[in-house]
Amino acid sequence: MAVYKGFEPVIGLEVHAQLFTESKMFCGCKSEYGAEANTLTCPVCLALPGALPVLNKKAVEFAMRMIAAVGGKVHRRSVFARKNYFYPDLPKGYQISQFDKPIGEGGAIEYHSGNGSRKRCRLTRIHLEEDAGKSLHPEHGEGFTRVDLNRCGTPLIEIVSEPEMESPEEAYGYLTKLKQILQYIEVCSGDMEKGHLRCDANVSVRPVGSEKLGTRTELKNMNSFKGVERALKFEIVRQIDLIKAGGKVEQMTLLWDEKKQVAEPMRSKEESHDYRYFPEPDLVNLVIGDAWIESVRLSLPEMPDVRADRFVSQYDLRTYDAAVLTDSRALADYYEQVMTHFDDARAASNWIQTELLALLKDNKQELHDCLVSPEMLGELLSKVKSGDISGKMAKTVFEAMFATGKAPDVIIKEKGLVQVSDESSLIPIIEKVIAAYPDNVAKYRGGKAKLFGFFVGQVMKETDGQANPQTVNKLLKERLDG
Ligand code: ADP
Ligand code: MG
Ligand code: ZN
Repeated sequence: MAVYKGFEPVIGLEVHAQLFTESKMFCGCKSEYGAEANTLTCPVCLALPGALPVLNKKAVEFAMRMIAAVGGKVHRRSVFARKNYFYPDLPKGYQISQFDKPIGEGGAIEYHSGNGSRKRCRLTRIHLEEDAGKSLHPEHGEGFTRVDLNRCGTPLIEIVSEPEMESPEEAYGYLTKLKQILQYIEVCSGDMEKGHLRCDANVSVRPVGSEKLGTRTELKNMNSFKGVERALKFEIVRQIDLIKAGGKVEQMTLLWDEKKQVAEPMRSKEESHDYRYFPEPDLVNLVIGDAWIESVRLSLPEMPDVRADRFVSQYDLRTYDAAVLTDSRALADYYEQVMTHFDDARAASNWIQTELLALLKDNKQELHDCLVSPEMLGELLSKVKSGDISGKMAKTVFEAMFATGKAPDVIIKEKGLVQVSDESSLIPIIEKVIAAYPDNVAKYRGGKAKLFGFFVGQVMKETDGQANPQTVNKLLKERLDG
């Protein structure tokens, strides 16, 4: 790639996804974001002496869903391991994780690379682990750090990719797809701001054509996918410049500073032996039967790419529109529900993409807060199609539906928005207009075709905009051209 002066980057991502189970991984405490500090704790997650962990079955099932969704293999037997390190927000002094025998292995994510093509990155492993608490560093003045242990013991999966991505844009595409999958299968909110999704990015560079991987560094502390992309761009340039200047990349961890737009060294890279991993003695091996694996696999919803392809073939939509409509499972469901009440797939697609998504965005609303049910939207669109109301009126009606949740019929009545399509009531008006402008009629018939619009305008004016333009066109043509 020209931009990198003879070098090519290699990227591998480690993503932590918080599973939205009701309770924590090894105790009955609620797993909830935003509660008052240290109110969601118990002897187990506070690591009081003698307290023992009990595995949350739902967390295991959620991990299995993700493994199945990416085509990975669920291991029939996996082992929890202690990862030992000291940190103030880790009262046990270790994290229960999985090491050499994770619950899942393999699979791949197919994503859109920056330049529009589809790419695939294989996954190394998916394993289960518990989260640590949170240190709340001094804002200003307060000379100490506080700790909130509510997050201690919250279930996570870590999804580790192979080092196969070739640009920061690809990393962005990969993360977008990963999040979409997690949301489709309903195991993680995907909310990066709340820390429900966290990404560590590993990157190295090598001369173009070389097979051997360069020494990597690891970037942490990015709080958006764009932030990951920016941090990678920064670090790739730093590594290339360093090598070109005769230096050597050292394996280390860097912290991305979004304000300064730089990555600064945090620590030299720790090795796995630093963590003194050993099998967790308080938990038995995790053994999963084939029947459970199979039932989880069967319970998966249709995945986003498959659904988008189906939308193209079933509803004859363009690829782009199908991708927008299947972006979230909720939107795709909404569209398909509209289609059970209406029969013009493209009209419904256009309406949802332009009118509905725009109103949601302007009002900072999510689809699930929307007062317009798919059935009501289907009714409205049917009225436009049958000519009962014009497209312009429909926008007014739709805005009112969006604001009040009332049915289209009710609003149309309230606003007196009826489109007149009935020929017998339009003919007298049309004849009146023609009679009123004999000069223009003569000019039109003499070849000034543009004047047709003038007549249409006059009829619309006479009918307060309620005449059906198609009917008006037809009737005018019959009289002026005939
Ligand atoms: P650790 O857990 O110590 O960070 P792993 O071996 O699990 O180490 O690798 C972590 C991530 O680093 C993986 O996503 C992998 O793809 C990526 N990675 C490993 N080597 C390289 C490299 N040379 N260049 C870029 N990424 C790499
Ligand atoms: Mg790592
Ligand atoms: Zn607890």
